[in-house]
Amino acid sequence: MDKLNEVTEYLKENGIDAAFVTTPDNVFYLSGFQSDPHERLLAVAVFKDADPFVIAPKMEVPDVKAAGWNGEVIGHEDTDDAWEIVAKAVADRNVRPGSIAVEKVHMNVERYERLAQLYPDAAFTGLDAKLNEMRNIKGEEELQKLRKAAELADYAVEVGCREIAEGKTELEILMAIEFEMKKKGVSHMSFDTMVLSGPKTASPHGNPGTRKIQKGDFVLFDLGVVWEGYCSDITRTVSFGEPSEKQRDIYETVRRAEQAAVDAVRPGVRAMDLDKTARDVITEAGYGEYFTHRLGHGLGISVHEFPSIHGANEVKLQEGMVFTVEPGIYHPDVTGVRIEDDVVVTADGVEVLTKFPKDLQIIG
Ligand code: MN
Ligand code: MN
Repeated sequence: MDKLNEVTEYLKENGIDAAFVTTPDNVFYLSGFQSDPHERLLAVAVFKDADPFVIAPKMEVPDVKAAGWNGEVIGHEDTDDAWEIVAKAVADRNVRPGSIAVEKVHMNVERYERLAQLYPDAAFTGLDAKLNEMRNIKGEEELQKLRKAAELADYAVEVGCREIAEGKTELEILMAIEFEMKKKGVSHMSFDTMVLSGPKTASPHGNPGTRKIQKGDFVLFDLGVVWEGYCSDITRTVSFGEPSEKQRDIYETVRRAEQAAVDAVRPGVRAMDLDKTARDVITEAGYGEYFTHRLGHGLGISVHEFPSIHGANEVKLQEGMVFTVEPGIYHPDVTGVRIEDDVVVTADGVEVLTKFPKDLQIIG
């Protein structure tokens, strides 16, 4: 079913008159139009018994149409009160909403107050759960974009490995990676590219800088690209020169933990059990205290979405879910290691989207 129709059906089933969707990721999901409107109003309005519309900054109206939106697009200029234009479009449809579904997790107070002023008798209800449930399961068209995004991320890691050399800084390597990605037609990375070396690998969210790479360092790449609106997210940790015994032990532990979790992916497995599969390997090897985050996160239009793969999430995996598997060990005195793949739950198991080798790569 068309995504917009699915929202309309949901409104009908639940007796909700209108839905007002404003987060850029959900606007893209429902309309095909991807944009960051900053503080300007960009929304998809969906009705139980009337035609939907998009309201967008006037300069972006042609882009909304070019993105494939077939319904009405209403533009507003910077000198307009966009909410009056919304009110008129709703009134033109002979709709007087008594109930309105919004994204409660994201809608800000100012916007809520404007809607509540326009429709003082309306009850507000959350659309978050429905949209999350829809976005949780990817269709074939979405999977094709995710596959391509992952393939480009694999290539980005390959470029990073090729660039490693004594005395080069983390930022110099990062620059080479992103330069190559631009040549491949990637306009955005999914998040700030991470290239960390030596002791800096022990920080899961470290910042690349001007540290010069030396023999004996582990180098950690964590990066992803956006391809036609869909994100990839890969981590590989490689060795510059021969690793010490301790570095190798940490690497092989993470390698086994990651593989165990990937191999356990199939419909019906609980997210929490998948987390435990990896965590048990790390704990049994004596590094449990250094694995300080969840196993993974859903991946799609957002680089972090549902399902969350953590130790208290009882949700069962379903065919079509896409998420990361990314155990790590962050040992402050030795090194940090993380290995991250993007995986799809298939009818009877798993498809791994990221394919860069996971056996320890020794460079130089
Ligand atoms: Mn990552
Ligand atoms: Mn990740």
